Amino acid sequence: MNEPLPPAIDPANPSIHRWPDLGLTLIHDFITPAEEAVMIAAFHAVTPETTIKKRISQHYGHHFDYTTFGVTSRPTPLPEYISSFLPRLPLFPDRISTGATSDPPCPITPDDGDVLPDQFTVQYYPPGAGIPPHVDTHSMFSEALYSLSYGSAVPMMFRQAGQNEARKLRLPKRSLGGGGTEAPVAAATTAPEHPSWELLLPARSLLVMTGASRYGYVHGIKGRKTDMVGGEAVARQGRYSITMRSVRRGERVGCECAFPGVCDARVREEEEAAEGR
Ligand SMILES: [Zn+2]
Repeated sequence: MNEPLPPAIDPANPSIHRWPDLGLTLIHDFITPAEEAVMIAAFHAVTPETTIKKRISQHYGHHFDYTTFGVTSRPTPLPEYISSFLPRLPLFPDRISTGATSDPPCPITPDDGDVLPDQFTVQYYPPGAGIPPHVDTHSMFSEALYSLSYGSAVPMMFRQAGQNEARKLRLPKRSLGGGGTEAPVAAATTAPEHPSWELLLPARSLLVMTGASRYGYVHGIKGRKTDMVGGEAVARQGRYSITMRSVRRGERVGCECAFPGVCDARVREEEEAAEGR
């Protein structure tokens, strides 16, 4: 498995690692071990142990309906353990249209929806579990995607999206098996794939994807019982994550990224053009 290029380490804060060309940032120790313990306990307090044999999710904030591509009804209030770390979330000043960055984040305010995450997916991955490589929808979520890892470390796989992904995105809808953000796995693959590499996401780290890593790369987690970490085989433990996204609404729905091959907004334009609309 390939390693990513060495990161640029923030001189003012060595826990912040950046890959500027990829728009990728990894912040180590974003939460404390005490916060992590509270979060794990809170997850299990609302999820019966008997149901966690495979990857499972809890949803907070705005709900996104992948069949209608829209926000559904009322947001689910955030648990305290999420709202308590939200003020520390790094924002992206070039994306902020509402003024001072010192404004306290208000995660479920629609007017701020293009900047601050308002959709939260808490997931538990049992030991060995993964998630297929996918590109999150471009048109319905703002640029920055956040993933907070806790419980244990896991390697996240990245690979530049290519012709295979572009073709999958253009398959007739009925073959997509109910839709979703995850690319269908059964599609034929003939074009050679770009090389993949894995980035270890330590427990309590925050990954932020923007730019190329957000729009032009697939990301996923290989299902494995053992990971190679620093040359040593390490048994994979249960891992939790919180994926944080901002749902685009109204005029903000759409995308003008530099990766039209895997851009669902461009695919929709192509389909509309083909139908003569
Ligand atoms: Zn796009």
